[in-house]
This record gives sequence, C-alpha cells and structure tokens, in this order.
Amino acid sequence: MMKKLGKPTIAIFDFTDCEGCEVEFINLKEKLMDLMGETDIINWRLAKDINSPGPFDITFIEGTPVTPHEQEMLREIREKSKYLIGLGACACTGGIPAIVDDELERPKFYKLVYPPEYKPEGTEAKPLSAYVKVDYMINGCPVDKDEIERYITELLAGKSPEDRDNPVCMECKINDNRCLLANDQPCLGPITRGGCKAFCVTQGKRCYGCYGLVKDGNFKAMVKRLNQIQCEEDTRLMLNMFMSETKEYKRAYK
Ligand code: SF4
Ligand code: SF4
Ligand code: SF4
Repeated sequence: MMKKLGKPTIAIFDFTDCEGCEVEFINLKEKLMDLMGETDIINWRLAKDINSPGPFDITFIEGTPVTPHEQEMLREIREKSKYLIGLGACACTGGIPAIVDDELERPKFYKLVYPPEYKPEGTEAKPLSAYVKVDYMINGCPVDKDEIERYITELLAGKSPEDRDNPVCMECKINDNRCLLANDQPCLGPITRGGCKAFCVTQGKRCYGCYGLVKDGNFKAMVKRLNQIQCEEDTRLMLNMFMSETKEYKRAYK
C-alpha cells in the first residue's frame, strides 16, 4: 500500500511537443478546480506565474527531451520528484518527434524548417524512459482528460494507478462500431493500449496507435494482417508513428 499524499505539490513541465496534452488539464474545467483545492500546483509555465524549483510530490512531463538542455533538465527534475509521470505520447513513446528517428535525417528536416542562421541542437528523439526512471505513463496524442483525473485521484488516495492492458478493440466493441480490419481496412486497434474509448474509430477514422503498444499485443500478426490489405511500406509508416521505440518495431524493421 502506498502512503497517502496529504496536500501534494504538483509540477507540470513540457519539452519538445505541441502542448496539446497540457490543454487536457485545462479541459478538466471544474474538476481541475477541485483537484487544485486538494493539491498545490507550484510549477506550471503554461498556466501559472509561480515557478517553484521544487521538490515536487507529483511531476508531469509532457514532450520529448530532444536537446541536451532538455535531457539535463529531465535528470534534475527526476531527482526532485517523488513520482514522475509521462504525459502523452511524446513523453511516453517518443511520439511525433520520434517519427524522424535517424540522426542523419533530422538535420535535413531542420534545413527545411528553420532559417539557416538558426542552429537547432537535438539529434535524437526518445521517450523519457530512455534517460530516467518513469513511475507512470499516461498515453495518448493527446491524453484523455479522464485519465489525468484517474491518475491524480488514485495517487491522492494512496493507490498505485494501473496501466490499461486492454486493446482499443475492446472499447471499440463496447461502442458497437463496425470493424474496419474485418472489412479489409487498416486499423491498429488490436495492438494498441486502450483508455481512449476508441475515440477515432467511433468518429469514423481508424486507430493509428497513439496510446502505444498494449502489453502482449501480437505485433507480428498485426504486421501480417496489415500487409494483406496495404503495401508493406504503408504498414511500416503506420507503426512508425507511435511504436518506433518498441523492441517489437525494432526487431521487425531495424
Ligand atoms: S502527445 Fe500529441 S498532443 Fe500531446 S504533446 Fe505530443 S504531439 Fe501534442
Ligand atoms: S475497427 Fe479497429 S479498433 Fe475497432 S474492433 Fe476493428 S480493429 Fe479493433
Ligand atoms: S483510437 Fe487509437 S489513435 Fe485514436 S485516440 Fe484511441 S488509441 Fe489513439
């Protein structure tokens, strides 16, 4: 049993990312106000003026530590935090920044995006866990606000929040959606961790795997099935978006 946290201090940091997951905190609306009553948010660049140096009871980190400065900052924050939580796909899987995973490719994109006088420093995009111990991960691009609430509420109650181990397909079935894969359309639901209530499929799109690879997901069988309905490169690109840092992806493609 974990120790109940009295009125814990919370910090929210962001590295290289789009800040969409932090917006989900704000989307909690009244619930955020309730949580603020039970906690003390002492560092949150996006929404508050105070920027305490710590220590912190619960620290959320959004984004991928791409630059040496971000990687150093991550190590310092880890030392000051009782619980470190990765917030969103960028932090948990490398996410969007990790789509370009070749250190030779990245400078080519820098040239296309930035003016020549600006010299970006980052050469690699890896999840937080490549640098420090991460206690919990809230997956998704963006995360589901209900999951943020669940993690904070359970930690406040002295519980250890559990990762979802059901695939998106289970939530998709609950929503009574027509199965894309059974109708020869690509979908990553069978190997993607649930928690989003099958949001995309319910909205008429496919699951592109933003919650990351589910525990015991059959990656090999997924590749085989997708290759039956689309070209192999399209399958690789689908899996590269949020699963490129998994050992299953590396085994299959690197
Ligand atoms: S996980 Fe998605 S929504 Fe969240 S910060 Fe990264 S790109 Fe933005
Ligand atoms: S549509 Fe996708 S997520 Fe839904 S059941 Fe079929 S494979 Fe699974
Ligand atoms: S359906 Fe798939 S891509 Fe869409 S939010 Fe859920 S996990 Fe992410």
